[in-house]
Amino acid sequence: MKKRLFIGGEWVEGSSYYDLKSPYNGELLAQIPLATTSEVKAALDQAEKAFQVIRQMTSLERATILEKASQLFQDRLEECAQILAKENAKPIKTARTEISRTIETYKFAAEEAKRIHGETIPMDAAINGKDRFAFTIREPLGIIAAITPFNFPFNLVAHKLGPAIAVGNSVVLKPANQTPLSALMTAEIFAEAGLPAGGLNVVTGRGSEIGDVLIGDSRVKMITFTGSVEVGLGIREKAGLKKVTLELGSNSAVIVDSVNDLDEVAARCVEGSFAFSGQVCISVQRIYVNRQLYDSFLEHFIEKTKSLVIGDPQDEGTNLSAMISPAEAERVENWLNEARNSTANIVYGGNREGGILHPTVITEVKPTMAISCKEAFAPIVSIVPYDSFDQAIEYVNDSDYGLQAGVYTTSIGQAFDAIRKIEVGGVIINDIPSFRVDQMPYGGVKNSGTGREGVKYSVEEMTELKLVSFKL
Ligand code: NAD
Repeated sequence: MKKRLFIGGEWVEGSSYYDLKSPYNGELLAQIPLATTSEVKAALDQAEKAFQVIRQMTSLERATILEKASQLFQDRLEECAQILAKENAKPIKTARTEISRTIETYKFAAEEAKRIHGETIPMDAAINGKDRFAFTIREPLGIIAAITPFNFPFNLVAHKLGPAIAVGNSVVLKPANQTPLSALMTAEIFAEAGLPAGGLNVVTGRGSEIGDVLIGDSRVKMITFTGSVEVGLGIREKAGLKKVTLELGSNSAVIVDSVNDLDEVAARCVEGSFAFSGQVCISVQRIYVNRQLYDSFLEHFIEKTKSLVIGDPQDEGTNLSAMISPAEAERVENWLNEARNSTANIVYGGNREGGILHPTVITEVKPTMAISCKEAFAPIVSIVPYDSFDQAIEYVNDSDYGLQAGVYTTSIGQAFDAIRKIEVGGVIINDIPSFRVDQMPYGGVKNSGTGREGVKYSVEEMTELKLVSFKL
């Protein structure tokens, strides 16, 4: 029941622990160590040593470790999915999808390890560049501190660990407090896959304490963070000249303007709004619908929502379960009450049982209401009509966030208009903003963050570009 820290290839007992409980039924799952400053420093010592080993390895050796890890995740897919269902209350089918994506992310990282290269520079294009030959190489940075959220605890770790190992860095991982078991399983798998001791260290415990040690240590060359805006901004302020990538939140929107099959689009929007109880950074939170389609869309949408099964995450039929904590469900319930007391109309759902918030559909929403302008990270969606495509784009852009946006249109002209005008990291034409595959560039503008993930793009973030110039 007592779990241990993973430092320098060893399982290390903690000096104090916290109880990890199931968000669904409160069952005690494990006791998790609260890493102390000296344990985090020990992890950094080990990561420093391991870096000297990993950077000497060939690309092929690093790719082989990543391939082996991917295979081990495949072999242990069900075991990993069950961990997610327990510690995260992620419905088992959704949990299996996350593990399948994790397997793929590590495969992409293995492939990327074999193509880390620079480019030749046409030096003679400059007046003073005659008789020069130059090229760039990409070098690993050193120790990467990875700080990860609760919602995709296997795959979002893979997005940091995979590229870091691919390029020859070492990693100290601080997983979310709610989901340490998946990180410890990742450590077990990488040890078995042959990653040198200290290549991955896992320190569990209090975010601010561990975070401050990692951010304050000069040996850490980069912080790769996925999580909330508040924590991300704090990291940014303290990080000085360290490289920082921040993958933060959003209140993602989709425009439904013209479609071939309204039923299919409504079904997809329901999936995007309520999958994993909306605890997805690109969950659909705002739907803007052409007024001519509005009534029909709303009808289809509610019809589909009614068929969602709420229950035990370990049941095969469950679509939605408990949110990560009752406090989170309560937070959103308060936002709903605030909206209810204003103009908003809760046309479906809105009720809470402990940590379970029922899928909730709201109309007559004002952009200033918390349920619209803040990140809900919950199973709630507002559906708003619009009268012109320009107005729809304005609605989408009226947000502090900018991660991804979806646009359903049968007009190529409108599609390009949206591509040019919408202020986000990714425009998804004819699908919901929640669409993601793991090799595509992924990241936000505005408060949604800085930097890009998606294995190849993380490789760029996690390496230093060095110029080599020869005078001929
Ligand atoms: P969170 O910010 O509460 O926690 C994220 C991590 O930061 C955890 O490991 C936590 O322990 C740690 N942490 C907390 N305080 C810290 C501090 N002071 N210094 C350093 N680390 C600290 O986020 P969460 O609730 O786990 O996750 C939900 C958030 O993550 C949402 O906002 C969601 O949109 C965002 N998210 C973004 C993406 C993306 O790719 N853009 C993906 C998933 C989740």
